[in-house]
Amino acid sequence: MSISKNIENLTASLPKKVTLVAVSKTKPIEAIMEAYNTGLRIFGENKIQEMVSKWETMPKDIQWHMIGHVQTNKVKYMASFVSLIHAIDSIKLLKEVNKQAKKHDRVIDCLLQVKIAKEESKFGLDEEVVVEILNTPEYASLKNISIVGLMGMATFTDNKKQIINEFNYLQTIYNRLKLKHPHFRTLSMGMSADYPLAIKQGSTMVRVGSAIFGSREY
Ligand SMILES: *Cc1c(COP(=O)(O)O)cnc(C)c1O
Repeated sequence: MSISKNIENLTASLPKKVTLVAVSKTKPIEAIMEAYNTGLRIFGENKIQEMVSKWETMPKDIQWHMIGHVQTNKVKYMASFVSLIHAIDSIKLLKEVNKQAKKHDRVIDCLLQVKIAKEESKFGLDEEVVVEILNTPEYASLKNISIVGLMGMATFTDNKKQIINEFNYLQTIYNRLKLKHPHFRTLSMGMSADYPLAIKQGSTMVRVGSAIFGSREY
């Protein structure tokens, strides 16, 4: 199937209030332009260098989301343009984003990545650490970042019950935090294989790659 047909089917199935991030990592400019020409403006990448080179060549009304693990020393390359960083996992990284955002006189929106999967390989913070970061006076002093919600990745499994439980757990944390942080507006969860389950558990933003662009070759 074609990219535009995939997008048509996908967007028809998404509730209006759910934001679609088209995950374009490893995909060439031509494929991303096909998605752009259907009207999509939000693209997600997981490597900073790749995102920077695509940003340089592509239309400037694209909002670029960094969805992958971020190394502190690479924040500077994306600070002038990145629209949302999904996977913040330390106060140290948050401080660096703040420092680089300040140089460009911007406020960069960020999500804290919560570890919800049982797999050892997945990055993310435990709930206690999320609360700790949000309560630290140091966070309050960072004027050039704004934490607008949470992100999570479920275990890679066929066990639907487990995936639902993990998304439900993240939704619970999100709703609890939202009481103290009413400006929270983004719960980023759900990928090609599990986004319908994520939406049922309150996801407001899905990150979909292969269901749009086809499978990836590395
Ligand atoms: C690659 C990636 C996705 C998209 O995965 P698909 O299964 O291709 O939809 C979503 N989120 C993150 C963090 C990713 O790295």
